[in-house]
Amino acid sequence: MKTLDKINLEKLIGILKQENYTVIGPVIKDGAVVYDEIDSIKDLPEGWEDEQEAGYYRLKKRNDNALFSYVVGPQSWKKFLFPQKLKLWQAVREGRGFNIENSNSAEPKYAFLGIRSCELKAVFIQDKVFDNGMFADSYYNNIRKNIFIISVNCTRAAGTCFCVSMKTGPKAKNGFDLALTEVINNNEHYFVLEQGSEKGTEIASKLETNDADDKQIKAAEAAVKNAELNMKRTMNTAGIKELLYNNHDHPIWSQIASRCLSCANCTMVCPTCFCSNIEDTTDLTGNHTERWRRWDSCFSLDYSKVAGGNFRTSVKARYRQWMTHKLASWIDQFGISGCVGCGRCITWCPVGIDLTKEVENLRNSPKTINK
Ligand code: SF4
Ligand code: SF4
Repeated sequence: MKTLDKINLEKLIGILKQENYTVIGPVIKDGAVVYDEIDSIKDLPEGWEDEQEAGYYRLKKRNDNALFSYVVGPQSWKKFLFPQKLKLWQAVREGRGFNIENSNSAEPKYAFLGIRSCELKAVFIQDKVFDNGMFADSYYNNIRKNIFIISVNCTRAAGTCFCVSMKTGPKAKNGFDLALTEVINNNEHYFVLEQGSEKGTEIASKLETNDADDKQIKAAEAAVKNAELNMKRTMNTAGIKELLYNNHDHPIWSQIASRCLSCANCTMVCPTCFCSNIEDTTDLTGNHTERWRRWDSCFSLDYSKVAGGNFRTSVKARYRQWMTHKLASWIDQFGISGCVGCGRCITWCPVGIDLTKEVENLRNSPKTINK
């Protein structure tokens, strides 16, 4: 392991830009940490951390210059791999026919700086969705294969995190090119650097690094342990698939539905949710048409509308579908849970519905139906 100072973190961004990467990192916008293009470490949320609870998010000033003391904000990295709005193709009239043009030939080359362990796991989960044999999504895969990933290990837990329960954090174990752990001790401020790929090693070789000594490695481990020890939420995942499948008719779904606004926030902020809809638009002359893909949600009434009717008209049915898919049928579909424990759906739910509590409520009052 190596250590890196802030000057060389700045240099790292410069090297990536020279290699034609668009560097994406955390920035403060509209009172929250979001992900956007950065040019320098000056763009990072230096000296800020987030306070999160069910239905609550605020940024708070720290009394140090930490760059990565926020946890996660409302956005996830899926906005770059699976954009909220994407033109799939357009067609222009030519004589008696149409010329169809693919609108997605551009392949941005992204470097993600600051991706957390749970978020990295969320990308692996979306890989299973979008790199899925005959259903592979070419836009996703073309971008995905070129990403340079600089993971940042969490040294704080937000009030809504439960990655330890989901075994997805707080330390990134693989899948990154480089991983950083920020250490601030007395007057020292440095990053312990791990290399996770050949490309990561090649880029790191261009930086001025030092070998990390035992004290520095232990300080980094203690910082990550701090996040683990301070994680307030847990989710007991033992037999969770059966718990959900066997309680389809439990009264809890009506109780949740009496609070749920069906606003779809939880699905928009979730780093693994992947529902989308297709919209075709035509201009008034009939000479030009476009096909767009937009994020959608199982909470939208129209999402379950099919020829002959709607099979999920109640909020109860829609919430049950979301939680059952996320924590149970996702496992059958993709061999893995659809939840990484990032806590976003809890923080950004306007009425503070908390899936960890709802799983616990279900566990404490199971009403098993015949199966
Ligand atoms: S659970 Fe919360 S965030 Fe999700 S749809 Fe219901 S009210 Fe909106
Ligand atoms: S379900 Fe909630 S906690 Fe789980 S990954 Fe999605 S947003 Fe994060």
